[in-house]
Amino acid sequence: MTPDVVIAGAGPNGLMLACELSLAGARPIVLERLHEQTKANRANGLVGQVVLALDRRGLYERLSGGAEPPRPSPGFVFGAMPLNLGKLDDNTLYTLPVPQRRIEQVLEERARELEVEIRRGHELTGLSQDDDGVTVEVAGPEGPYRLRARYLVGADGGHSLTRTLCGIGFPGVTKDDSISRTAHVTVPAELTDPATGGLNVPGYGPIPPFMHHRTDHGLFTYAPFPTGALIHTTEWHGDGGDRPMSLDELRESVRRVLGADLPFGPPEGPGPHLLRRLVGGNTRLAERFRDGRVLLLGDAAHVHSAIGGPGLNLGLQDAINLGWKLAAEVRGWAPPGLLDTYETERRPAAERVVMHTQAQSALIAPGPEVTALRVLFGELLRDERTVKHIADMMSGADIRYALEGTHPLTGRPAPDLVLETATGSVRLAELTRTARPLLLDLTPDTALSGALDGWRDRVDLVTAKASREGLPTALLLRPDCYVAWASDSPRPDTKELDSLRTALTSSFGAAR
Ligand SMILES: Cc1cc2nc3c(=O)[nH]c(=O)nc-3n(C[C@H](O)[C@H](O)[C@H](O)COP(=O)(O)OP(=O)(O)OC[C@H]3O[C@@H](n4cnc5c(N)ncnc54)[C@H](O)[C@@H]3O)c2cc1C
Repeated sequence: MTPDVVIAGAGPNGLMLACELSLAGARPIVLERLHEQTKANRANGLVGQVVLALDRRGLYERLSGGAEPPRPSPGFVFGAMPLNLGKLDDNTLYTLPVPQRRIEQVLEERARELEVEIRRGHELTGLSQDDDGVTVEVAGPEGPYRLRARYLVGADGGHSLTRTLCGIGFPGVTKDDSISRTAHVTVPAELTDPATGGLNVPGYGPIPPFMHHRTDHGLFTYAPFPTGALIHTTEWHGDGGDRPMSLDELRESVRRVLGADLPFGPPEGPGPHLLRRLVGGNTRLAERFRDGRVLLLGDAAHVHSAIGGPGLNLGLQDAINLGWKLAAEVRGWAPPGLLDTYETERRPAAERVVMHTQAQSALIAPGPEVTALRVLFGELLRDERTVKHIADMMSGADIRYALEGTHPLTGRPAPDLVLETATGSVRLAELTRTARPLLLDLTPDTALSGALDGWRDRVDLVTAKASREGLPTALLLRPDCYVAWASDSPRPDTKELDSLRTALTSSFGAAR
């Protein structure tokens, strides 16, 4: 099979893109240099609008293991400061505590269901491009070979060879002034508080669960995940030397950070168990996300601190943004400039993550001036508007793409809707699993029934009633569930119908 798109890297973002391309009718091949999935675990969960995005592809239930739809999180943390989200009227911050290994397994399983070819043990080693396509050099188990495709996407992680081969710079900073240690452990039951799920550390006091906890000497976190309890510390001096990381090293670090002993033991259960020391970190953003027929995705395009868990929120939504646009290009219906909007829409989203992870790193740093800043920040967090601002920023709900249109929802992520259809109540997330553009006609007399003439091959029409007051009467949604057009009129007039046609044309090409 000649692929439309070669994806270098079967990490979470490469796999997500493969699923999106396949749903949109393009043929991807994924090259992964590892022969099997890595045992190392990085992310412990998903934070932000990505949870809704995965629900909108039918993947939330597989990841959560339950039948319940996602619910916003009652609390979270910003720079080791608690955020009380429960009191917000419109809380946009969703979380899903699932290890990255499991996320990758689910995405790989979904990609295989969609008949994506994943070639493990095949490493991208070179590339060249011309007006018609890209030639990829591959080192496979049976020797080197070449692969030709219309496009190449480098989803090959922070050290991306694709990025290097395209000569795309990766400016930013590399710091080596922190040392983080993380391990799965068993904590004696008498030290855990069944009421809060947190710890009572002798000689120190109570520590809530899942919260970065800053002291004068560093950061401590206790996270009792269903798969096992994790303990994490960050300090700003010392190094691990050359010796392998050990639980004793973590015990000593906890003693320095808390000034008290926490008598934990080795983890139980089959694992794989985490025992990790990381020194420093990188904050870098690719100069460009595109070089002709080559695009960068996920960590290949941006790396930053993992604080607040924004990596997969950013990368998986990059993939969902890119998938339908790239498929539209290879299927021949993309309007001019559509593919360039991948960079103009997603690079600012990455810049925002770089900004707030750096701000959080500043808030957890040592020193009396930081302690003073935290006192002030804590006072600001008493104002619900500040909490809402931070929650929207961390979740990515404050993103507004520059789409033409005056409705306040234009360019924003679609709200979480429940609709009444002829066959009963349905959540928006159940209508978007095919990843096709949707026009939701919620007008009382189905006023938009003819509005898709000329676009029916690319856009689906859903006629329904909104289940609550105050929602628009019509919404045009892109496959990534961003609003391309919306109306509040019970019967959109000629001018509004013209603006709908303009939105259809600029997102999905001319009528035909
Ligand atoms: C300690 C830590 C904790 C984190 N915690 C969180 C968290 O809680 N929440 C969160 O959202 N994010 C977290 N992140 C970030 C998250 O892990 C990354 O953003 C994510 O893994 C990026 O996915 P990716 O697919 O872009 O790249 P990667 O996961 O790096 O995958 C790239 C893939 O490409 C393959 N590859 C590389 N070169 C080639 C080549 N030449 N040819 C073929 N294949 C190649 C690699 O083998 C790899 O499989 C954390 C990161 C770290 C380091």
